[in-house]
Amino acid sequence: MKTVDEHISDILESVAVLPARRLPLAAAHGCALATDVRATIALPGFDNSAMDGYAVRAADVEQASAQTPVRLPVTGEIAAGAAGPAPVAPGTAARIMTGAPVPPGADAIIQVEWTDGGTETVAVHQPARRGLHIRRAGEDVTPGSLVLPAGVVLGSAQIGLLAAINVARPPVRPRPRVAVLSTGSELVEVGKVVGPGQIVDSNSHAVSAAAREAGCEVRRLTGVPDDPAQFEAALRAVLPEVDAVVTTGGVSVGAHDVVKEVLTATGEVRFERVAMQPGQPQGFGVIDGVAVFTLPGNPVSALVSFELFVRPALRKMRGFTGPGRPSQVVTVAERLTSPPAKRSFLRVRVDRDTDGGLVAHSAGGQGSHHLSAAASANALLVVPEAVTVVEPGDQLTAILLTAEPADGILAGLAVDAAPATVASAVPALEANV
Ligand code: AMP
Ligand code: MG
Repeated sequence: MKTVDEHISDILESVAVLPARRLPLAAAHGCALATDVRATIALPGFDNSAMDGYAVRAADVEQASAQTPVRLPVTGEIAAGAAGPAPVAPGTAARIMTGAPVPPGADAIIQVEWTDGGTETVAVHQPARRGLHIRRAGEDVTPGSLVLPAGVVLGSAQIGLLAAINVARPPVRPRPRVAVLSTGSELVEVGKVVGPGQIVDSNSHAVSAAAREAGCEVRRLTGVPDDPAQFEAALRAVLPEVDAVVTTGGVSVGAHDVVKEVLTATGEVRFERVAMQPGQPQGFGVIDGVAVFTLPGNPVSALVSFELFVRPALRKMRGFTGPGRPSQVVTVAERLTSPPAKRSFLRVRVDRDTDGGLVAHSAGGQGSHHLSAAASANALLVVPEAVTVVEPGDQLTAILLTAEPADGILAGLAVDAAPATVASAVPALEANV
């Protein structure tokens, strides 16, 4: 049997970073920059006032005090957006607003609170050093400087900076377009009447949500019955429109496992048994340049497989280079079991105990059909292949299903921002990314 790590590295070797595209800022939000971005302009673009007040020559107000204010004639007003303001002559002042260009001749701004606020003449109550409250051209960004390196995930501050330097369409790695295709003749679309022997198709919704959380644009295709021709037609039709396809169901050893039947025959997908639980039957291949993941049909198996194999591949396609989900060593609270020679990913709730340590409790039934436990878990407890019994107090690694900084919408300043702590952990299904 193949190990989990071998399967992950095989997949990562086969998928490529998506080609760069220039996207408008709103669409680029949450994406990784494809190339370094250098400024072509300065920030600020010109010397401007940091205060509402008066533009003066510092030498003229040197003697100003509350007892002996200096009176200057006010020669005009300079508003934000004014172009080419008139020079300030010695012994005069101009009213000036925040963001307005500093007029020639002036070398200090007196904030309005230090004056009587006059419009004909102004009484200045305090002296000012030269340069006071003047925001100098280029003090934030100089033309030609590297403002954002390739790989940075664009959050709100990065989007603001790009706009400020007048980059309307930054080059980014686009969001992968993902088709989610559930198969099974027993499946009914949610909200419809469920007949005898039928079940509601939950996988296509869950996996679509997981793909959206991973920053993808998702097309959900449902209701593909266990019929080879219909499955193949649905798959071929969607291939030209997407970067990845994720199927669920039909990869086991049953009589109607059509996904496996069709794609084994064409030789385009390799079906393998991976030494893990849940999620042993796995398939992966690249068809016409599109990554195709065939996940098992049991709902928890599908989600865990997505987490371990699909999500890292999508991150690579997006050009994300920082660490993925955070892992933490946790203390297990209760006795748990795991099959021999398989790596288990048990659904647990990780919380802080009174000492500040992290404790993992089973989130409920550990069957691959126990969706309610998955829905109350906030972490996957990793039980190594060699371990079959976990005793209370044992320490193991847990993958925290928190939103990553690198998921984009929540990005900080860098792709390598520190992972969220468990204190702020939210269940994966709630993560709004
Ligand atoms: P399969 O891998 O097709 O043999 O399916 C394994 C189990 O998962 C069966 O009990 C299926 O009914 C169930 N299953 C398959 N697809 C879905 C789905 N889309 N939603 C919910 N359960 C499913
Ligand atoms: Mg099936």
